Amino acid sequence: MNPSPACPVADVEAIVLHVADEAGDLDASHETIVVRVTDAEGRAGVGEADAPARVVRELVVMDDLFEWSRGLRSIVIGLDPIELAANHRRMGDGTLYHGRRGLGIHALSAVDLALHDLAGKQLGRPAYQLLGGAVRDTLIPYATIWPGSPDGRSLTELLTETERQFALALDLGFRAVKMEVVYGAVASDDELVRAVLHGRDVLGPDVCLLVDFGYRWHHWRDAARALARLGDADVFLAEAALQHDDVDGTARLGTVAPMRIGGGEFAATVHECRDWIERGQVDVLQPDLNRCGGLTELRRIAELAALHGVEVVPHGWKTGITVAAQRHFQAATANCPLIETCHPALFPSTLRSLLTGSEAPIEAGRLPLPTGPGLGIELDEAIVERHRIA
Ligand code: MG
Repeated sequence: MNPSPACPVADVEAIVLHVADEAGDLDASHETIVVRVTDAEGRAGVGEADAPARVVRELVVMDDLFEWSRGLRSIVIGLDPIELAANHRRMGDGTLYHGRRGLGIHALSAVDLALHDLAGKQLGRPAYQLLGGAVRDTLIPYATIWPGSPDGRSLTELLTETERQFALALDLGFRAVKMEVVYGAVASDDELVRAVLHGRDVLGPDVCLLVDFGYRWHHWRDAARALARLGDADVFLAEAALQHDDVDGTARLGTVAPMRIGGGEFAATVHECRDWIERGQVDVLQPDLNRCGGLTELRRIAELAALHGVEVVPHGWKTGITVAAQRHFQAATANCPLIETCHPALFPSTLRSLLTGSEAPIEAGRLPLPTGPGLGIELDEAIVERHRIA
């Protein structure tokens, strides 16, 4: 028999935030769906998903259709937030019919993050302790460097913007950066290789360099030809070289590439990630906390990855809620060497900058462990009220 909940979930809100006239370039941080879970004593935990906010809201607040197709709000009300893994299972069972992947798992992810925040607040403990405790003293974020889609600009213009962002990232204290080279037809493969080698020259030898190719190639041999010529650039990780679901091509690429091969930023659940590990033979998995199933699922993914000698470097392009959750994940996860950061100083965005307050300063490439209970953040309620969509 279950013990009665110490302080059960009393309410679940799904709040759509939207900032007009701020639509980004491959960046949806002008909109988010915040899930707020409140307990009977008024404590609140928050999570979010990086997915169409109005649709995700409906998956949270919808009426139950039948046992396998329930609204997440209906499932979670009355549950004890501390029972994180069991609650994750209950949400999975209750959304079996329409959930499992895609928007269903995105919505579940947001609620799972909110439950971690609330459980930590109830216990007065940081969320990383709910994940088993810290296995490191400091965190290592990397700065995503994204000059934007070409949109009529030349390769020279894109590289000038890339170099401007390199300098800014180093000024902010980062010692790891990811160069996005999503150049499309603006650059030939030869020009792209020269651009990355130039990027390494600009950064110097001591900065960790990741490269995101943005699904450039359709055949692994074309990717292999370019990656082979990047040996001198000392690239830590090559991300998204092939099409997202080309896991067999990814496995072949990994046998010849001179750097770690990563992928799976759209992969959901441990089951899809297993395919990337076993068939795709990736070195690094890159699922997103707010899309793969939340902290509960990403920890499972990381444990499976560790058994195969694979690392996890989660994707994350949303607001400070996701950033905070990533920090707790890295704190508790030995095979998570880096976490992605779209820093508000590099990518100005109202929600990214203001929803959860200012970023902790980075020193010599590192951040301290988060403090404060739960995810360790508080929403700026004035921002929530200003931008919420009824
Ligand atoms: Mg990417």
